[in-house]
Amino acid sequence: MPKIQISPETHIFIDTPRCPLCALTASVYRRKEPSDLFEGWCERCGDVCITISSVDAARPQNKAHLVSAWLRRRPADEPAAIINNDGIQRILKDTPEYSVLDKLDMALVKISGMTGEPGERSTFDVSRDYPLVYARSGNEAAFYVRQLAALDYVKEDSAIAQLTAKGYLRLSDIQSGEPRVSLCLRGHVVRSFHEWGL
Ligand SMILES: [Zn+2]
Repeated sequence: MPKIQISPETHIFIDTPRCPLCALTASVYRRKEPSDLFEGWCERCGDVCITISSVDAARPQNKAHLVSAWLRRRPADEPAAIINNDGIQRILKDTPEYSVLDKLDMALVKISGMTGEPGERSTFDVSRDYPLVYARSGNEAAFYVRQLAALDYVKEDSAIAQLTAKGYLRLSDIQSGEPRVSLCLRGHVVRSFHEWGL
């Protein structure tokens, strides 16, 4: 839920405000004072309270989405924090470089976390929740959902996922820290058993 109060007394209201981080339509407005600060609520980035100069520092590195990820992954009960240049540098330094395979696993974990009960469709929404898996866009998150479907870890319909038994099996491997290579080997063994009629 939005924690930052926006008002015409303190903020410059415009017709189509955009979030400076994800550059998409959101209720994020420039403050009158200090005028470098943008504040508000973005459904993708959460509570936004950020100086435009710090966004300008992250964008040329193509890393603004990592700041969106940091904001979305903050504990919900924490108060909104102002992100300035130092804050951006800290966030970028502390965020690991995740591989495509890492993000696939993260997408599976998030899809599971946003599933009410087994058999239900997940509420993970690629266009809203892509920062949760460190994706740059909804398109990238949709790619992960499609690939999870290709691996039979989820069923997928218009990028909405439903976990399968194989997906739950992979989740238990992720939770027990089993490396991917052994998963591949085990998949091979399972296939071999089928080939041998066992
Ligand atoms: Zn945003």
